[in-house]
Amino acid sequence: MAVTSPARRQYLDLKERHPDAILLYRLGDFYDMFDQDAVTASAVLGIQLTARSYPRGEGRVPMAGVPHHAVDSYIKRLLDAGMRVAVCEQVSEAQPAGSKAPLEREVVRVFTPGTVVEPEMLDPASNNYLAAVYPAKLGFGVAFVDVSTGEFALTQFDGPTAKPDVEAELQRLGAIEWLIPQESAQEISLIGVGQVRQSDHLFNPHGAEEKLRRRLGVQSLAGFGSDQAPLGVVAAAAIVSYLEQTNSSSLERVASLRTYSTASYMVLDGYTRASLELTHQPRERGWSLLRVLDRCKTGMGSRQLRRMIGQPLLDTAEIERRLDAVEWLAGAGPLRALLGERLARVGDLERLLGRVVQGSAKPRDLLDLAAALQAVSAIKQSLIESARTSLQPLVALADALDPCLQLQELIERSIDPDTEGGIKAGFSAELDSASAMLGEGRAAIAAFERQEVEATGIRGLKVGYNKVFGYYLEVGKSVADRVPDRYLRQQTLINAERFYTPELKELERRILGARESIEKLRKQALDDVTGRAADAREQLGHTAGAISWIDAFRSLADAAVSQEYVRPRLGTTSTLDIVDGRHPVVEAAQTDIGFVPNSIRLDEEQRIIVLTGPNMGGKSTTLRLTALIVLMAQMGSFVPASSARIGIVDRIFSRVGAQDDISAGQSTFMREMIETSNILHHATASSLLLLDEIGRGTSTYDGLAIARAVLEYIHARLRARTLFATHYHELTVLAEEFEDVKNYHMAVTEHEGRAVFLHRMEAGAADRSYGIHVARLAGLPHSVTIRAERILRQLERQANGRKESDLRQLAMFVDPDLTPRSEAEEVAVRVLDRMLALDLSNMTPLQALEELHRLQEEGRSGR
Ligand code: ATP
Repeated sequence: MAVTSPARRQYLDLKERHPDAILLYRLGDFYDMFDQDAVTASAVLGIQLTARSYPRGEGRVPMAGVPHHAVDSYIKRLLDAGMRVAVCEQVSEAQPAGSKAPLEREVVRVFTPGTVVEPEMLDPASNNYLAAVYPAKLGFGVAFVDVSTGEFALTQFDGPTAKPDVEAELQRLGAIEWLIPQESAQEISLIGVGQVRQSDHLFNPHGAEEKLRRRLGVQSLAGFGSDQAPLGVVAAAAIVSYLEQTNSSSLERVASLRTYSTASYMVLDGYTRASLELTHQPRERGWSLLRVLDRCKTGMGSRQLRRMIGQPLLDTAEIERRLDAVEWLAGAGPLRALLGERLARVGDLERLLGRVVQGSAKPRDLLDLAAALQAVSAIKQSLIESARTSLQPLVALADALDPCLQLQELIERSIDPDTEGGIKAGFSAELDSASAMLGEGRAAIAAFERQEVEATGIRGLKVGYNKVFGYYLEVGKSVADRVPDRYLRQQTLINAERFYTPELKELERRILGARESIEKLRKQALDDVTGRAADAREQLGHTAGAISWIDAFRSLADAAVSQEYVRPRLGTTSTLDIVDGRHPVVEAAQTDIGFVPNSIRLDEEQRIIVLTGPNMGGKSTTLRLTALIVLMAQMGSFVPASSARIGIVDRIFSRVGAQDDISAGQSTFMREMIETSNILHHATASSLLLLDEIGRGTSTYDGLAIARAVLEYIHARLRARTLFATHYHELTVLAEEFEDVKNYHMAVTEHEGRAVFLHRMEAGAADRSYGIHVARLAGLPHSVTIRAERILRQLERQANGRKESDLRQLAMFVDPDLTPRSEAEEVAVRVLDRMLALDLSNMTPLQALEELHRLQEEGRSGR
């Protein structure tokens, strides 16, 4: 059996405890990785792979290292590549005398995507959620935390059938890391979201409540409203256990817990969120509703806005309060600009507070905190002043702002990040006197040097210092024999000799003593100031919260003014009346073309709209803009329309745009039917349904039958407001059968034999489908589109009493153009195609002649 050296043994022991993480093992100025870790990391990080030799037994093992001062950036890259990283540090000061054992080392922190607090590893505009899901017999518990901001919340879904709601909530959270019990990992679909960690021992239904109580320092969880949500408590306790194992200091930031119910928010399932393109992925710059609305000046504001988009409200009073704030700011141009400047100076107070509370704040962070508080004072002042002249909806938020003047003053008096140690002179008398002693000591050394040069007559004599030997007197080799006897030899170099004297050692003792106390006093002073800031965590937390709202409202007001949005009117009836609605994202993205506004009304008389029209005619865009305007209204934003009346919607179901789910192993049609079934089971009379081309994924008659049955069900049972876009013209007859079903179409006109899309929605069904026009626009060979037109005419002639067998029969008459052709025929068809494609009205006679010449040449080549 191979003999293992003690150092190797230590490494292997640590690694055994963290098999699923890359282990960074601190050795001097480097963090080293060994074995498979080294191989993996060298590939991911592009660093050199070397080997370490062991004298006995093990031979050579792969090794790679990164310098300690740059370790954060390497850790970030490993995390981005989907890994976890365990950092192992030396924990004992020095080896016991005579011991050959390696220094004691321990894993002090495990970096995972959901537990980081380092600003450079976080996206400023998104929350960094770690979430836990606990599926049980009676329902599901869900909890999440953002350790960088301290937000910690839980909820519970009752009943084993709540799974779609749980999945919708998980999609909303978009957590970067998930905890789930091993045995239930298959039960919940977490596709497309962050890293999943399966673990049974984190979830402990028996000790969960006790664990949370201890962590939050309370007698009962009732104060957080969590006593009614025992499954949520198990999930929340799993998060606490996980943080204890990975980044225990981050728990300092987690001081409170919120219990919420998804019942007070509009429900949007994952499919709907994706199809409406509400938010883009963190750090991505894709178009989304968030991108159009986000004009926030702080990361806190952007995160608030993202949450608002994720959870539109149902309570009209609450929505009106938000709209009041937006309206007031929209009407207060100069103040809005001023607030913008001041908000930008606040920075990310929320995450700054996180570092303060966890004790990782640097002097620069403390100064940033003071600057933030100064900006908070200014914001508060301008809001309160404006309230003197008008009734002002932001007063409550202004009241919640606490500029913590004493703390601000303390930081300004004590901290200067540009001085060594970060503490200002004059702040601590003790520190000043230690600094004075150090100064005196240094002066004494200088005087000593002068005195010795004079006494020995050696002009090149110098006093120097190094870490190992301390202060010394140095003279060149050539004059070394001229030093007096009282000089004691310390060290011999190639060209110089070093000496010391008892007097020099006494000076050294004073200087080193002063230095040591300076370091201690500086740390103490820094800890004191940080501690005072941490004591204000509650006020600072509320202040950060209020700032995030002010910033988000200001941003919405800015968007409303610049994009010409209007305040929606909300009600509890089932009316939805959008006049001249625009798609907020399409209009922002395609500024060159301009957007054609459309009006959409859905109410008792017109509950279901069957929308027909050509592909590319604008059906999907119209469906989406309806959903987006409703969602914007209920999140408290102004909307892109000339007016909008919105009867509160409890759920939006949007099935717009085909999205294959190949990863789930389901065909498009299967997926479509699962989605449709989900809608039919969960929609209510207050829901808004936006259905695009239901039944497209199967044969014509199947598809038509399903689409019609679905529409009838919505009409008779659900009575939900519905926009139903379809290419089955056969469905337009429903308008004659049911009073509340109305036909609309996307208008098209023809210009020189081509379809021109007007993108305007008009009453009545479309007269034809224009599919062949679109095919022509897409550049299909003319022979194909001509043949298609012929088939279409034939089909239309047979329209009365046609059956599927007719279609098959039609297929029997194979297109003569598709039988194998001779080369000459090929050329002839190609020439004909090109001739038909000529745009004669846009050619000069000369160009036409030239083209004719080319065609002739080509035609001859085929003979
Ligand atoms: P398909 O059935 O092929 O999905 P569609 O009828 O749903 O087509 P959309 O995807 O909604 O058509 O629209 C096609 C394009 O037309 C959009 O990408 C957009 O650029 C433009 N468009 C749609 N509506 C409007 C509008 N109201 N004003 C201006 N441009 C529009």
